Amino acid sequence: MTKTVLITGASRGIGRATARLLGAQGWAVGVNYASNRAAAEDTAAEVVRAGGQACVVQGDVADETAVVAMFDAVVAAFGRIDALVNNAGIVAASLPLAEMDYARLKRMFDVNVLGTYLCAREAARRMSTDRGGHGGAIVNVSSAASRLGSPNEYVDYAGSKGAIDTLTIGLAKELGPRGVRVNAVRPGLIDTEIHASGGRADRAAVLGAQTPAGRPGTADEVAEAIVWLLGDAASYVTGALLDVAGGR
Ligand code: NAP
Repeated sequence: MTKTVLITGASRGIGRATARLLGAQGWAVGVNYASNRAAAEDTAAEVVRAGGQACVVQGDVADETAVVAMFDAVVAAFGRIDALVNNAGIVAASLPLAEMDYARLKRMFDVNVLGTYLCAREAARRMSTDRGGHGGAIVNVSSAASRLGSPNEYVDYAGSKGAIDTLTIGLAKELGPRGVRVNAVRPGLIDTEIHASGGRADRAAVLGAQTPAGRPGTADEVAEAIVWLLGDAASYVTGALLDVAGGR
């Protein structure tokens, strides 16, 4: 039986690397993106080249109707859903809280918190064994920021990831008896385009050099942890917050 997964924010970065790795293990992957369709289609092609199946699903995770539709699209394409990688997330410009306007704060929490909760809810509705699902696994992509706080950079982002840690702990307890494992990875400084979107393209390289590992991590290194948590090798792991942060 082919296993199927929806990965939010799979057009680039950590989501794309996870899609490619799952493709190599024969998974069918729903490749979600927000606006960059060409990048999502490239990810889908990489999944197929690696040996998996793929479908591309547009949708803003902060939009409830879109979230329901993207799960429907994955089930329509592959017949079932076994896993969610709750990965879509944003940062914004480095600022102290006193300088952050309402629109920035609202978007941060809409995408990173509400979006993650909505996707987890849809996964719970479709995968829980007491609702006719087959059970499965959810991996939430949090951040080391949840325990560091990100002062003078983005305490909003850090707080949004704190919510994801807490969701992981609670939902693991809620869904454990219903056949669904729920875990989180907390990446540190990973070399992706997210830093440029916050206005500091060299952030991972500069700060990564100051970590015990002495370098930033790669999206592939985070993907390895996500794929392990999704798979049968992690069958007794739930409610875990796994740091993939080079000791940061
Ligand atoms: P990235 O390279 O900037 O990619 C972000 C992905 O999320 C893209 O596929 C983007 O789609 C998608 N996305 C953004 N907003 C979305 C929305 N509202 N709805 C659906 N998809 C949306 O980011 P990344 O570095 O891979 O980060 C992935 C996750 O890891 C995030 O949750 C981030 O907070 C977390 N993380 C990253 C680091 C790091 O250092 N990179 C560290 C800790 C945690 P489009 O291509 O369509 O824009």
